[in-house]
Amino acid sequence: MTATPVLRLLARAPVKVPLRTYATSIPAKAHHHVVIVGGGTAGVTAAAQLQRSLGLEKKDIAILDPAKTHHYQPGWTLVGSGLKSLDDVQRPLSHVVPAGVKHYPLRVSTFDPEQNAVKTSEGVDISYDYLIVAPGLETNFGGISGLKEALQDPASEVSSIYSEKTVEQVWRNIQAFKKGPAIFTQPAGIIKCAGAPQKIMWMALSQWKQEGVRDNIDITFATGAPAMFAVPKYSQALEALRKERNVEGLFQHNLISIDAKKKVATFKNLAEGAQGATVEREFGFLHVVPPQKPWDWVAKSKIADAAGWVDVDKSTTQHNKYKNIFSIGDASSLPNSKTAAAITAQVPVMVDNLLATMAGKEAKATYDGYASCPLLTGHRELMLCEFKYGGVPKETFANILGGQETPNAAYYYLKKNIFPAVYWSYFLKGSWYGPNSFFRPETTTA
Ligand SMILES: Cc1cc2nc3c(=O)[nH]c(=O)nc-3n(C[C@H](O)[C@H](O)[C@H](O)COP(=O)(O)OP(=O)(O)OC[C@H]3O[C@@H](n4cnc5c(N)ncnc54)[C@H](O)[C@@H]3O)c2cc1C
Repeated sequence: MTATPVLRLLARAPVKVPLRTYATSIPAKAHHHVVIVGGGTAGVTAAAQLQRSLGLEKKDIAILDPAKTHHYQPGWTLVGSGLKSLDDVQRPLSHVVPAGVKHYPLRVSTFDPEQNAVKTSEGVDISYDYLIVAPGLETNFGGISGLKEALQDPASEVSSIYSEKTVEQVWRNIQAFKKGPAIFTQPAGIIKCAGAPQKIMWMALSQWKQEGVRDNIDITFATGAPAMFAVPKYSQALEALRKERNVEGLFQHNLISIDAKKKVATFKNLAEGAQGATVEREFGFLHVVPPQKPWDWVAKSKIADAAGWVDVDKSTTQHNKYKNIFSIGDASSLPNSKTAAAITAQVPVMVDNLLATMAGKEAKATYDGYASCPLLTGHRELMLCEFKYGGVPKETFANILGGQETPNAAYYYLKKNIFPAVYWSYFLKGSWYGPNSFFRPETTTA
């Protein structure tokens, strides 16, 4: 690594985005060598890394995504905590699609893997030689009765960091709340960044402490899960923190409805023997993480598994049936923790296996399930959870800074300042490999 990128980061040089647009005029049908569904973290990074790897004559990549804006979702926790503005964590999608990659602002509605084609809601057919499926997942705001209505009311005590539309209300509500019961929820089931529901709780607690009102606020963490975190090492450390900081743990309690007028939240007790009993709790502040699921149009398609995720091999990211299809990111069936950090490890593996498939070879590069959850535990402290399949820790800094279950100020500034800058300048441009920084990792272990 040369010193130049590091100095740029440390100087926090503003990212200069060229005012260019790559949107293409839309034909009735088109064909591309590689089609990517979704221009989020996974889709854009895959396009950028693939473009660097493909021979000149094969550089024919198209991204399909109807969104106008690309969101750095890990930044939503920082917006909710008052550490960044929403503008800091988003860019026009046209500014992050790599130069030379075609962007169609189209919404994919159907996969036709037998015909190597996708159809869009706008009636356009796009065929491909190879397909990368990366449309993320659906955050299901309708999955909790009363939630949508509560979030639409600007005076509501209910908020959520899980959407760009609702995240700014979180910081307003944290600042306005001075006493009473505060509840932070996490739904049962798979969600993206399973640490985020409690990151915002720890940041709110820290803020209330700074303002001298913490002792007037009763904080509850109500989660559908049986523990603080899925990885035992970090879960134990977080459980100790919960007890030390006098936060009530309402485990295996899944939020099912909200009455925003009466300020009552209703939970279903998922514990064995509880027979689904419901529990009502009054709140003065409520932070909600909605349940999440695969998109219906993906789940109903031929490329989905029984649970609705894109059915790929957990090591190679290649589709289990259609060998010219790959999937990474939140939409895939990869059983890792769904994070942007995981995508840094998935993309080089996917690219190597796609290139091998193009060359008529076997897909041998393997993804070990790496994911990371930079778990904010307060101002100037963060627990850097890093692990692979099976909940086995895979820590980058443990040899220098000790076990990463101990919150550290250095990790906090990584999350707050370095990671967002790296995201726009390197990650999305295909030159950032997570724990390997700027060095492309060896992907083949077989
Ligand atoms: C509050 C919060 C905090 C988080 N914190 C962290 C963190 O600290 N660290 C971390 O590593 N990760 C974190 N994550 C998780 C991370 O942001 C996601 O895992 C990551 O964004 C997934 O990338 P993706 O490309 O799979 O999906 P996305 O980034 O969601 O992109 C999906 C794209 O597909 C497009 N799309 C949807 N439907 C269609 C369609 N029909 N046709 C075409 N395109 C479509 C969308 O418009 C979107 O652009 C956090 C997430 C949230 C919500």
